[in-house]
Amino acid sequence: MATRQETRQDQQAGAATSGLADVRARLVQAAKTAKRDPKEIELIAVSKTFAAEAIRPVLALGQRVFGENRVQEAQSKWPQLRAEFTDLKLHLIGPLQSNKVRDAVALFDVIHTLDRPKIARMIAEEIARTGRNLQLFVQVNTGEEPQKAGVAPQQAAAFVRQCQEEFGLSISGLMCIPPINEEPALHFALLAKLAHKLGLEQLSMGMSADFETAIAFGATHVRVGSAIFGRRH
Ligand SMILES: *Cc1c(COP(=O)(O)O)cnc(C)c1O
Repeated sequence: MATRQETRQDQQAGAATSGLADVRARLVQAAKTAKRDPKEIELIAVSKTFAAEAIRPVLALGQRVFGENRVQEAQSKWPQLRAEFTDLKLHLIGPLQSNKVRDAVALFDVIHTLDRPKIARMIAEEIARTGRNLQLFVQVNTGEEPQKAGVAPQQAAAFVRQCQEEFGLSISGLMCIPPINEEPALHFALLAKLAHKLGLEQLSMGMSADFETAIAFGATHVRVGSAIFGRRH
């Protein structure tokens, strides 16, 4: 007989696989509606707070792109999975502290949350030291919320230029997390406009509740957690 623990894991696994299938179908539909090629839109499965056992069924369905918001948590589960699945791409979508830059550059393939010169300089130094090839996004605080990470919209251009010219970093695009109680479309439109002005092609925007809207506004990376894995505890 299955233990209670196993039963809960089986339920989680079932929810994650039907969640992924559903999100994939919705992504394709949203792309079609926007007259875009679904292949241009990267689905990042946000696995924060979920253990390797909950992630495995999603790996079994071929998903290889995952997002985590804490460096330390990611270090506790991904090196082992990466040894088994060598084509994984890991995205850091949470804030990066200076004492975690070395670990983050070693583990992640993409960082979405660049927003300070100090961290940008450290990332550039780590990339030069290790020869790692990272993709970088600058996070923009489109709602100008004091507690939220990201550069203010009116500072985005200067910061992107500083990253490129002073630190020699290649910036792929912009990322935002809209305020909870505002219409996300306004923020997606603002991010797309900023990126266009700066000649940046990638847009990391859209989560479980609003990724279809984000796709309509040009998202190239959607970060979807609970719609795939279920509610976080
Ligand atoms: C947790 C998180 C997500 C995923 O959120 P869901 O609503 O569960 O899809 C996306 N982006 C960031 C930055 C997050 O921290």
